[in-house]
Amino acid sequence: SAKNKGGNRFHIYDPKESNVIEERLRIENGIRQAIEKRQFVLYYQPKVHLASGKIYSVEALLRWQTTDGQLIHPDTFISIAEESGLIVPIGKWVLLTACHQNKRWQDMGYAPISVSVNVSPKQFQLTDMAETVHQVLHETGLSPEWLEIEITEGLLMQNSNEITNTLRRIRSMGVKISIDDFGTGYSSLRYLKLFEPHILKIDQSFVAHMMEDPGQLSIVSAIIHLAHSLGMEVVAEGVESAEQALKLLQEGCHSVQGFFFSPPVVFEEIQQKWLQTSIS
Ligand code: C2E
Ligand code: MG
Ligand code: MG
Ligand code: MG
Repeated sequence: SAKNKGGNRFHIYDPKESNVIEERLRIENGIRQAIEKRQFVLYYQPKVHLASGKIYSVEALLRWQTTDGQLIHPDTFISIAEESGLIVPIGKWVLLTACHQNKRWQDMGYAPISVSVNVSPKQFQLTDMAETVHQVLHETGLSPEWLEIEITEGLLMQNSNEITNTLRRIRSMGVKISIDDFGTGYSSLRYLKLFEPHILKIDQSFVAHMMEDPGQLSIVSAIIHLAHSLGMEVVAEGVESAEQALKLLQEGCHSVQGFFFSPPVVFEEIQQKWLQTSIS
């Protein structure tokens, strides 16, 4: 910026900087239009129990389907949606759509599974997430035990009474809380004891390298033992091979998610390939 350039009071035109700003504005306007034109869709990725090979949960993952048929992943627009506050209406739509879809599957007679929804720290700051969750469950009729909220370690680190209180209220409804990308943030173990999340999701970066890097395997193994000794469930993310799945099983991790089992897919494919008709 101009300030860094020898204290010059005048802004020095930097074409590179201006392109970044233009790109951000372009994406922000795109997001506004996407909301209006209903261009957001949810994909669902199965979480599988290794022992049975059966689905027990799906993670809802946001996609932006542009008019020219492109499918844009959240990494390119989520941070801009957060900074502009647009994450609030988008996040509400994600929660509502995911709960509604899951209730529909139950009404169709499939054996119940849970659905997990990613919620960014900004949503906790800008809205009363406990109230939103309560409203959405009421509106869709989904029983709270079939909803899971994925948060990141960063949210716990904010150490605010308001967030602690909100998470407690969500828990007390019977909704599960999981810590996403566990091991990549800076959460102290004290926060795990304080919040008692139900589930730890081992970040995919550890799983990706654990077969050739003993250090990464040690981290995976430590997270599995930590979760179990604190009475939490543990899920490994980013499982891409049978070898990784087998290793995780040997280490005591029975729940997995990753391309080896299925990439995120549209709801019809979950129905056709994964859901089982309930016997009861
Ligand atoms: P995440 O919650 O950690 O989700 C897992 C990401 O890893 C997804 O990327 C998924 O497609 C990808 N993935 C799954 N299995 C594999 C695998 O075996 N190998 C590899 N390399 N990748 C795998 P995606 O869908 O692009 O989402 C990226 C991130 O965007 C998510 O990370 C989450 O933090 C965020 N996100 C997605 N949907 C939402 C949403 O509705 N709201 C908010 N606030 N954030 C979202
Ligand atoms: Mg997630
Ligand atoms: Mg993750
Ligand atoms: Mg992530």
